[in-house]
Amino acid sequence: EMGVENTDPSKMTFSGVDGRIGLDRAMKMVPAAVIDVIGESGLKGRGGAGFPTSLKWKLAAKVDDELKYVVCNADEGEPGTFKDRVILSDFPDLMFAGMTIAARAIGASQGMVYLRGEYTYLRTRLEKTLEERRRKGLLGSDASGGLGFDIEIRMGAGAYVCGEETALIESLEGQRGEPRNRPPFPVNTGFLGHPTIVNNVETFAWVSCIFDKGASWFRKIGTETSTGLKLFSISGDCREQGVFEFPLGISIRELLEKVGGEDAKAVQVGGAAGYCIPASEFDRAIAFEDLSTGGSIIVFGPERDMLEVARNFMEFFKDESCGQCTPCREGNARLLEGIEMLEAGQCSMKYLRELCNLGETMQMASKCGLGQSSPNAFLSITDHFKDEIMGRVSVAC
Ligand code: SF4
Repeated sequence: EMGVENTDPSKMTFSGVDGRIGLDRAMKMVPAAVIDVIGESGLKGRGGAGFPTSLKWKLAAKVDDELKYVVCNADEGEPGTFKDRVILSDFPDLMFAGMTIAARAIGASQGMVYLRGEYTYLRTRLEKTLEERRRKGLLGSDASGGLGFDIEIRMGAGAYVCGEETALIESLEGQRGEPRNRPPFPVNTGFLGHPTIVNNVETFAWVSCIFDKGASWFRKIGTETSTGLKLFSISGDCREQGVFEFPLGISIRELLEKVGGEDAKAVQVGGAAGYCIPASEFDRAIAFEDLSTGGSIIVFGPERDMLEVARNFMEFFKDESCGQCTPCREGNARLLEGIEMLEAGQCSMKYLRELCNLGETMQMASKCGLGQSSPNAFLSITDHFKDEIMGRVSVAC
Protein backbone atom coordinates (compact mmCIF):
# COMPACT_ATOMS: atom_id res chain seq x y z
CA GLU A 1 0.00 0.00 0.00
CA MET A 2 1.63 3.25 -1.08
CA GLY A 3 0.56 6.43 0.54
CA VAL A 4 -1.64 5.96 3.51
CA GLU A 5 -4.50 8.38 3.28
CA ASN A 6 -4.82 8.69 6.94
CA THR A 7 -4.10 10.92 9.85
CA ASP A 8 -3.83 7.93 12.13
CA PRO A 9 -0.13 7.39 12.97
CA SER A 10 -0.69 3.65 13.42
CA LYS A 11 -1.51 3.42 9.71
CA MET A 12 1.61 5.24 8.54
CA THR A 13 4.58 3.43 7.03
CA PHE A 14 6.64 4.45 10.06
CA SER A 15 4.52 2.36 12.42
CA GLY A 16 5.47 -0.84 10.59
CA VAL A 17 9.19 -0.13 10.71
CA ASP A 18 11.52 -1.31 13.43
CA GLY A 19 14.34 1.26 13.64
CA ARG A 20 16.59 -1.35 15.20
CA ILE A 21 16.75 -3.54 12.10
CA GLY A 22 17.88 -0.75 9.80
CA LEU A 23 20.35 0.53 12.35
CA ASP A 24 21.96 -2.89 12.82
CA ARG A 25 22.20 -3.29 9.09
CA ALA A 26 23.87 0.11 8.62
CA MET A 27 26.34 -0.50 11.46
CA LYS A 28 27.68 -3.56 9.68
CA MET A 29 28.50 -1.52 6.57
CA VAL A 30 31.49 0.68 5.87
CA PRO A 31 30.55 4.39 5.84
CA ALA A 32 30.79 4.75 2.06
CA ALA A 33 28.36 1.86 1.62
CA VAL A 34 25.89 3.52 4.00
CA ILE A 35 25.97 6.65 1.85
CA ASP A 36 25.55 4.53 -1.29
CA VAL A 37 22.33 3.01 0.06
CA ILE A 38 20.91 6.49 0.62
CA GLY A 39 22.11 7.49 -2.86
CA GLU A 40 20.34 4.49 -4.41
CA SER A 41 17.12 5.35 -2.61
CA GLY A 42 17.16 8.84 -4.17
CA LEU A 43 16.17 10.38 -0.82
CA LYS A 44 16.05 14.18 -0.86
CA GLY A 45 15.71 16.48 2.15
CA ARG A 46 12.19 16.52 3.57
CA GLY A 47 12.49 20.02 5.00
CA GLY A 48 11.56 21.60 1.68
CA ALA A 49 14.78 22.44 -0.15
CA GLY A 50 15.10 18.91 -1.51
CA PHE A 51 18.88 18.66 -1.46
CA PRO A 52 20.04 15.06 -2.11
CA THR A 53 20.76 13.57 1.30
CA SER A 54 23.54 11.28 0.10
CA LEU A 55 25.40 14.20 -1.47
CA LYS A 56 25.27 16.21 1.76
CA TRP A 57 26.60 13.23 3.71
CA LYS A 58 29.30 12.53 1.14
CA LEU A 59 30.59 16.11 1.39
CA ALA A 60 30.77 15.93 5.18
CA ALA A 61 32.29 12.44 5.12
CA LYS A 62 35.25 13.47 3.04
CA VAL A 63 36.33 16.32 5.32
CA ASP A 64 39.12 15.24 7.62
CA ASP A 65 38.19 16.29 11.15
CA GLU A 66 38.07 14.50 14.50
CA LEU A 67 34.89 16.31 15.44
CA LYS A 68 31.82 16.15 13.26
CA TYR A 69 28.19 16.79 14.09
CA VAL A 70 24.81 15.47 13.06
CA VAL A 71 22.04 17.99 13.65
CA CYS A 72 18.37 17.24 13.39
CA ASN A 73 16.29 20.25 12.44
CA ALA A 74 13.14 19.93 14.55
CA ASP A 75 12.36 23.63 14.34
CA GLU A 76 9.30 23.22 12.14
CA GLY A 77 7.80 26.67 12.22
CA GLU A 78 6.45 27.19 8.72
CA PRO A 79 2.83 28.30 9.00
CA GLY A 80 0.68 25.29 8.24
CA THR A 81 3.44 22.78 9.01
CA PHE A 82 2.96 20.27 11.79
CA LYS A 83 4.01 16.95 10.28
CA ASP A 84 7.29 16.55 12.19
CA ARG A 85 5.30 16.64 15.40
CA VAL A 86 3.88 13.19 14.57
CA ILE A 87 7.38 11.76 14.22
CA LEU A 88 8.64 13.49 17.36
CA SER A 89 5.72 12.21 19.40
CA ASP A 90 5.04 8.78 17.85
CA PHE A 91 8.23 7.65 16.11
CA PRO A 92 11.22 9.30 17.83
CA ASP A 93 13.23 6.06 17.69
CA LEU A 94 13.19 6.17 13.89
CA MET A 95 14.54 9.72 13.96
CA PHE A 96 17.27 8.87 16.49
CA ALA A 97 18.22 5.71 14.56
CA GLY A 98 18.42 7.75 11.36
CA MET A 99 20.72 10.24 13.08
CA THR A 100 22.91 7.39 14.31
CA ILE A 101 23.12 5.98 10.78
CA ALA A 102 24.13 9.45 9.55
CA ALA A 103 26.81 9.59 12.23
CA ARG A 104 28.16 6.28 11.00
CA ALA A 105 28.17 7.59 7.43
CA ILE A 106 30.09 10.80 8.08
CA GLY A 107 32.06 9.76 11.19
CA ALA A 108 30.33 12.02 13.72
CA SER A 109 30.51 11.59 17.47
CA GLN A 110 27.88 14.06 18.55
CA GLY A 111 24.27 14.61 17.55
CA MET A 112 21.88 17.38 18.45
CA VAL A 113 18.17 17.79 17.99
CA TYR A 114 17.21 21.45 17.65
CA LEU A 115 13.67 21.37 18.97
CA ARG A 116 11.35 24.28 18.41
CA GLY A 117 10.37 26.16 21.55
CA GLU A 118 6.69 25.40 21.04
CA TYR A 119 7.47 21.67 21.25
CA THR A 120 8.95 21.93 24.75
CA TYR A 121 6.16 19.65 25.95
CA LEU A 122 7.75 16.82 23.92
CA ARG A 123 11.16 17.21 25.48
CA THR A 124 10.73 14.97 28.53
CA ARG A 125 9.51 12.10 26.42
CA LEU A 126 12.34 12.55 23.92
CA GLU A 127 14.90 12.60 26.75
CA LYS A 128 13.38 9.39 28.08
CA THR A 129 13.65 7.75 24.67
CA LEU A 130 17.32 8.80 24.50
CA GLU A 131 17.90 7.35 27.97
CA GLU A 132 16.39 4.03 26.88
CA ARG A 133 18.56 4.00 23.79
CA ARG A 134 21.66 4.55 25.95
CA ARG A 135 20.60 1.69 28.22
CA LYS A 136 20.26 -0.57 25.20
CA GLY A 137 23.74 0.43 24.05
CA LEU A 138 22.41 2.21 20.94
CA LEU A 139 23.87 5.53 22.10
CA GLY A 140 26.80 6.49 24.31
CA SER A 141 30.53 5.95 24.26
CA ASP A 142 30.41 2.29 23.19
CA ALA A 143 27.30 2.68 21.12
CA SER A 144 26.66 1.25 17.74
CA GLY A 145 29.54 -1.10 17.34
CA GLY A 146 32.09 1.16 18.99
CA LEU A 147 31.13 4.22 17.02
CA GLY A 148 30.66 6.31 20.14
CA PHE A 149 27.80 8.60 19.38
CA ASP A 150 25.36 10.42 21.59
CA ILE A 151 22.48 12.80 21.02
CA GLU A 152 21.33 15.77 23.06
CA ILE A 153 18.26 17.96 22.79
CA ARG A 154 18.70 21.72 22.41
CA MET A 155 15.81 24.11 22.52
CA GLY A 156 14.99 26.76 19.95
CA ALA A 157 13.47 30.00 21.14
CA GLY A 158 10.81 30.65 18.57
CA ALA A 159 12.51 32.34 15.62
CA TYR A 160 11.35 31.13 12.22
CA VAL A 161 14.66 32.01 10.56
CA CYS A 162 16.42 29.46 12.80
CA GLY A 163 14.99 26.77 10.52
CA GLU A 164 17.62 27.99 8.04
CA GLU A 165 20.57 25.74 8.71
CA THR A 166 23.27 28.33 9.28
CA ALA A 167 21.01 30.41 11.56
CA LEU A 168 20.18 27.20 13.39
CA ILE A 169 23.89 26.52 13.92
CA GLU A 170 24.44 30.09 15.17
CA SER A 171 21.62 29.55 17.64
CA LEU A 172 23.09 26.21 18.75
CA GLU A 173 26.35 28.02 19.43
CA GLY A 174 24.50 30.46 21.66
CA GLN A 175 24.55 33.41 19.26
CA ARG A 176 21.66 35.33 17.77
CA GLY A 177 19.97 33.12 15.21
CA GLU A 178 21.07 34.94 12.07
CA PRO A 179 22.00 33.28 8.78
CA ARG A 180 25.67 33.12 7.85
CA ASN A 181 27.17 33.85 4.48
CA ARG A 182 27.49 30.70 2.41
CA PRO A 183 30.04 29.41 1.44
CA PRO A 184 31.50 28.05 3.58
CA PHE A 185 28.77 25.46 3.91
CA PRO A 186 28.04 23.64 7.17
CA VAL A 187 29.25 20.34 5.71
CA ASN A 188 32.71 21.92 5.83
CA THR A 189 32.44 24.57 8.53
CA GLY A 190 29.39 24.10 10.70
CA PHE A 191 28.90 23.86 14.47
CA LEU A 192 31.93 25.49 16.15
CA GLY A 193 33.70 25.37 12.81
CA HIS A 194 33.45 21.59 12.41
CA PRO A 195 31.77 19.62 9.60
CA THR A 196 28.06 19.43 10.35
CA ILE A 197 25.11 17.96 8.53
CA VAL A 198 21.69 19.38 9.21
CA ASN A 199 18.74 17.26 8.14
CA ASN A 200 15.04 17.47 8.83
CA VAL A 201 13.24 15.19 11.33
CA GLU A 202 11.36 13.42 8.56
CA THR A 203 14.51 12.87 6.50
CA PHE A 204 16.11 10.96 9.38
CA ALA A 205 12.96 8.89 9.89
CA TRP A 206 12.97 7.86 6.21
CA VAL A 207 16.66 6.93 6.51
CA SER A 208 15.65 4.32 9.09
CA CYS A 209 12.89 3.02 6.82
CA ILE A 210 15.25 2.80 3.85
CA PHE A 211 17.68 0.63 5.80
CA ASP A 212 14.83 -1.54 7.02
CA LYS A 213 12.86 -1.95 3.79
CA GLY A 214 15.59 -1.39 1.21
CA ALA A 215 16.66 1.42 -1.12
CA SER A 216 14.77 -0.08 -4.06
CA TRP A 217 11.51 -0.17 -2.06
CA PHE A 218 11.82 3.61 -1.60
CA ARG A 219 13.02 4.29 -5.12
CA LYS A 220 10.00 2.56 -6.67
CA ILE A 221 7.61 5.00 -5.02
CA GLY A 222 7.13 8.54 -6.34
CA THR A 223 8.73 9.93 -9.49
CA GLU A 224 12.15 9.54 -11.09
CA THR A 225 13.57 12.64 -9.37
CA SER A 226 11.30 12.72 -6.33
CA THR A 227 11.40 9.27 -4.87
CA GLY A 228 9.54 7.90 -1.89
CA LEU A 229 6.80 8.90 0.45
CA LYS A 230 6.27 12.20 2.18
CA LEU A 231 4.28 13.49 5.10
CA PHE A 232 1.98 16.44 4.49
CA SER A 233 0.32 18.75 6.98
CA ILE A 234 -3.00 19.65 5.44
CA SER A 235 -5.11 22.45 6.82
CA GLY A 236 -7.71 24.98 5.74
CA ASP A 237 -10.97 24.64 3.86
CA CYS A 238 -11.25 20.88 3.43
CA ARG A 239 -13.21 18.17 5.19
CA GLU A 240 -10.23 16.38 6.70
CA GLN A 241 -7.25 18.20 8.11
CA GLY A 242 -4.22 16.56 9.62
CA VAL A 243 -1.02 14.75 8.78
CA PHE A 244 -1.21 12.55 5.68
CA GLU A 245 1.29 10.31 3.96
CA PHE A 246 1.37 10.38 0.16
CA PRO A 247 3.87 9.40 -2.51
CA LEU A 248 5.70 12.36 -4.03
CA GLY A 249 4.43 13.24 -7.48
CA ILE A 250 0.81 13.33 -6.36
CA SER A 251 -1.13 16.11 -8.09
CA ILE A 252 -2.90 18.81 -6.14
CA ARG A 253 -6.19 17.58 -7.58
CA GLU A 254 -5.65 14.03 -6.31
CA LEU A 255 -4.62 15.33 -2.94
CA LEU A 256 -7.72 17.52 -2.67
CA GLU A 257 -9.92 14.54 -3.50
CA LYS A 258 -8.37 12.59 -0.64
CA VAL A 259 -9.01 15.32 1.92
CA GLY A 260 -12.35 16.58 0.65
CA GLY A 261 -11.23 19.92 -0.71
CA GLU A 262 -12.47 19.58 -4.30
CA ASP A 263 -14.13 23.00 -4.38
CA ALA A 264 -10.93 24.86 -3.42
CA LYS A 265 -10.09 27.96 -5.40
CA ALA A 266 -6.43 27.92 -4.43
CA VAL A 267 -3.89 25.88 -2.53
CA GLN A 268 -0.81 27.24 -0.81
CA VAL A 269 1.96 24.72 -1.34
CA GLY A 270 5.01 25.04 0.89
CA GLY A 271 3.67 27.24 3.66
CA ALA A 272 4.07 31.00 3.83
CA ALA A 273 7.27 30.79 1.79
CA GLY A 274 5.61 28.72 -0.92
CA TYR A 275 3.36 29.47 -3.85
CA CYS A 276 -0.34 30.03 -4.09
CA ILE A 277 -1.61 27.74 -6.84
CA PRO A 278 -4.96 28.53 -8.54
CA ALA A 279 -7.50 25.86 -9.52
CA SER A 280 -6.42 26.07 -13.17
CA GLU A 281 -3.08 24.53 -12.14
CA PHE A 282 -4.34 21.74 -9.87
CA ASP A 283 -2.91 19.09 -12.19
CA ARG A 284 0.59 20.12 -11.20
CA ALA A 285 2.60 17.63 -9.19
CA ILE A 286 3.89 17.99 -5.69
CA ALA A 287 7.46 16.98 -6.33
CA PHE A 288 10.88 18.60 -6.31
CA GLU A 289 10.76 19.01 -10.10
CA ASP A 290 7.48 20.93 -9.95
CA LEU A 291 6.02 22.17 -6.66
CA SER A 292 8.56 21.59 -3.95
CA THR A 293 7.39 21.60 -0.36
CA GLY A 294 8.40 20.71 3.15
CA GLY A 295 4.88 19.40 3.53
CA SER A 296 2.63 22.35 4.28
CA ILE A 297 -0.58 22.42 2.25
CA ILE A 298 -3.18 25.09 3.02
CA VAL A 299 -6.51 24.83 1.20
CA PHE A 300 -8.49 27.99 0.38
CA GLY A 301 -12.18 27.56 -0.31
CA PRO A 302 -14.27 29.63 -2.73
CA GLU A 303 -15.19 32.21 -0.08
CA ARG A 304 -11.66 33.20 0.86
CA ASP A 305 -10.44 36.74 0.32
CA MET A 306 -7.04 36.26 -1.31
CA LEU A 307 -5.82 39.72 -0.32
CA GLU A 308 -6.41 38.78 3.28
CA VAL A 309 -4.46 35.58 2.68
CA ALA A 310 -1.56 37.65 1.34
CA ARG A 311 -1.75 40.03 4.30
CA ASN A 312 -1.63 37.16 6.72
CA PHE A 313 1.58 35.81 5.18
CA MET A 314 3.23 39.23 4.96
CA GLU A 315 2.48 40.00 8.60
CA PHE A 316 4.27 36.78 9.44
CA PHE A 317 7.35 37.68 7.39
CA LYS A 318 7.54 41.24 8.65
CA ASP A 319 7.75 39.81 12.17
CA GLU A 320 10.14 37.00 11.30
CA SER A 321 12.68 38.84 9.13
CA CYS A 322 15.88 38.85 11.18
CA GLY A 323 16.67 42.36 9.92
CA GLN A 324 20.19 41.59 8.81
CA CYS A 325 19.78 42.57 5.17
CA THR A 326 17.86 45.44 3.61
CA PRO A 327 15.80 43.78 0.83
CA CYS A 328 14.10 41.52 3.36
CA ARG A 329 13.91 43.87 6.34
CA GLU A 330 12.47 46.76 4.30
CA GLY A 331 10.79 44.76 1.55
CA ASN A 332 8.48 42.74 3.77
CA ALA A 333 7.37 45.89 5.59
CA ARG A 334 6.70 47.66 2.27
CA LEU A 335 4.74 44.73 0.85
CA LEU A 336 2.58 44.54 3.95
CA GLU A 337 2.02 48.29 3.81
CA GLY A 338 1.04 47.98 0.14
CA ILE A 339 -1.52 45.30 0.98
CA GLU A 340 -2.98 47.55 3.65
CA MET A 341 -3.17 50.37 1.08
CA LEU A 342 -5.01 48.02 -1.29
CA GLU A 343 -7.44 47.10 1.47
CA ALA A 344 -8.04 50.78 2.16
CA GLY A 345 -8.51 51.54 -1.55
CA GLN A 346 -5.42 53.75 -1.56
CA CYS A 347 -3.10 51.83 -3.86
CA SER A 348 -2.67 52.87 -7.50
CA MET A 349 -1.96 50.53 -10.39
CA LYS A 350 1.48 52.08 -10.73
CA TYR A 351 2.31 51.44 -7.10
CA LEU A 352 1.06 47.86 -7.31
CA ARG A 353 3.47 47.33 -10.19
CA GLU A 354 6.27 48.79 -8.10
CA LEU A 355 5.41 46.40 -5.29
CA CYS A 356 5.68 43.47 -7.69
CA ASN A 357 9.09 44.72 -8.85
CA LEU A 358 10.13 45.03 -5.25
CA GLY A 359 9.05 41.44 -4.63
CA GLU A 360 11.22 40.26 -7.52
CA THR A 361 14.18 42.25 -6.20
CA MET A 362 13.73 40.63 -2.79
CA GLN A 363 13.78 37.18 -4.39
CA MET A 364 17.12 37.97 -5.99
CA ALA A 365 18.86 40.19 -3.47
CA SER A 366 17.95 38.79 -0.05
CA LYS A 367 20.66 37.01 1.84
CA CYS A 368 18.84 33.86 2.88
CA GLY A 369 15.86 31.71 1.95
CA LEU A 370 13.49 33.69 4.15
CA GLY A 371 13.78 36.94 2.20
CA GLN A 372 14.19 35.13 -1.11
CA SER A 373 10.89 33.33 -0.67
CA SER A 374 8.81 35.74 1.41
CA PRO A 375 7.38 37.59 -1.64
CA ASN A 376 6.30 34.32 -3.33
CA ALA A 377 2.80 34.27 -1.86
CA PHE A 378 2.19 37.96 -2.63
CA LEU A 379 3.50 37.63 -6.20
CA SER A 380 1.60 34.44 -6.96
CA ILE A 381 -1.63 35.85 -5.53
CA THR A 382 -1.36 39.10 -7.56
CA ASP A 383 -0.51 37.03 -10.62
CA HIS A 384 -3.24 34.38 -10.34
CA PHE A 385 -6.04 36.35 -8.71
CA LYS A 386 -5.76 39.47 -10.82
CA ASP A 387 -9.50 40.17 -10.79
CA GLU A 388 -9.66 40.04 -7.04
CA ILE A 389 -6.57 42.20 -6.57
CA MET A 390 -7.25 44.66 -9.41
CA GLY A 391 -10.71 45.20 -7.98
CA ARG A 392 -8.99 46.75 -4.96
CA VAL A 393 -6.76 49.10 -6.95
CA SER A 394 -7.78 52.71 -6.71
CA VAL A 395 -8.12 54.59 -9.96
CA ALA A 396 -8.31 57.86 -8.07
CA CYS A 397 -4.67 57.83 -7.02
FE1 SF4 B 1 17.61 38.02 7.77
FE2 SF4 B 1 15.73 38.24 5.91
FE3 SF4 B 1 18.21 38.81 5.27
FE4 SF4 B 1 17.48 36.25 5.79
S1 SF4 B 1 16.83 37.51 4.07
S2 SF4 B 1 19.32 37.31 6.48
S3 SF4 B 1 15.94 36.62 7.39
S4 SF4 B 1 16.93 39.92 6.79
